[in-house]
Amino acid sequence: MTQLTRARFETAVEQEEIRVSQILTWLSSMAILFLLGIGAKSLISGHGHHALILWLFAALVAVNMVVFWRTGNRTRQKTGMILIVALLFAYLMASGGESNTGPLWFYVFPPLLFYLTDLRTGTLLLLGCLAFAAVVFRFPQLPFVLAEYSNDFQLRFFATITFESIFCYVLEASRRKARNELVGLAIMHERAARTDELTGLANRRDIHQRLLAEFGRYQRSGHHFSVVLIDLDLFKRINDEYSHNAGDAVLKQFADLMRSVLRQADLPARWGGEEFLVLLPDTSLVQALTLAERLREAVDETPFRYQDRRLPVTISAGVCSISQSGSIDQLLRQADLNLYEAKQAGRNRIAPRVRSRGPAQPNGVPEPGTGS
Ligand code: GH3
Ligand code: MG
Ligand code: MG
Repeated sequence: MTQLTRARFETAVEQEEIRVSQILTWLSSMAILFLLGIGAKSLISGHGHHALILWLFAALVAVNMVVFWRTGNRTRQKTGMILIVALLFAYLMASGGESNTGPLWFYVFPPLLFYLTDLRTGTLLLLGCLAFAAVVFRFPQLPFVLAEYSNDFQLRFFATITFESIFCYVLEASRRKARNELVGLAIMHERAARTDELTGLANRRDIHQRLLAEFGRYQRSGHHFSVVLIDLDLFKRINDEYSHNAGDAVLKQFADLMRSVLRQADLPARWGGEEFLVLLPDTSLVQALTLAERLREAVDETPFRYQDRRLPVTISAGVCSISQSGSIDQLLRQADLNLYEAKQAGRNRIAPRVRSRGPAQPNGVPEPGTGS
């Protein structure tokens, strides 16, 4: 999994966590209503002590909700809810609730547990609670056990709860597997929609979005950036003389060369056909011209081959910096004009032209011409 894929996967999981948290808030509200209602009914039936304890649990759920609203800590919200519910079910099991029906509420636990925690933690917690139930069932003489359950009930309770737990485990495991596969597919499709199939570079749509984002950054914080619009020279001739496959091979080899020459932060993209656009963040016009020139030299010096035949490959490029233009459209138009100028001047060159006369600038890079 690449770093980008991992980041996208984590974003998807984070979104699911947010959803779980929203459902938990809703479930908590329902639990409070239920506990208050059943508590009131118990009070009317003369079980005042039981009613008070149920209301105490309602208060605990409410506190857990308030803590979550104040801190926004989703892990604590989940842990708090699981603990409260586990305690409530332990109490219902040990006390029998009303008419020994307390253990019935335990059936809510397995689906809730597997939904809120990972499968391993859920299984361990569930086993712990079932062990507690076994102790309550087998040792009714213990001081905290107020209810006694028949052997038949105990047997049926464990059989049905085991069946339910296994069923919930399998359902949740397959839900998670399907979720992961779906997220994987979504990431794959999203990447495909942003990538040029032949070269593996960013496609026009992707770099256009990146340009807009970079322009926003420039407007907010004044970070300059430049672009280099590259066109392979006389490419039609390569197709005609050496075959279309040879042309494809050149495009791929050129993409690899760009990746090796450019810096980590630069974004090379296939702009269309045999045209490429490179976005150079935090780069002035002079630096961009230097980089474009280095790329042109690398192409000029690299032997492009297809089926043991050497192919004549050179590039022309138009460079433009955002400081010379007021919008992305203007920037691209100017880069295109500069590219046209490079073609007109004889190809295998960069425009605007770098002055060959005159002193080098302090950073050793010659000053750009004022042609554009
Ligand atoms: P110039 O130096 O003026 O740019 O000349 P050129 O021949 O490169 O320009 P032109 O626009 O006439 O031809 C571009 C060619 O690029 C024509 C088209 O068939 C070819 N081409 C575009 N996309 C692909 C591709 O994906 N694979 C191959 N093999 N060729 C492509
Ligand atoms: Mg072209
Ligand atoms: Mg061309």
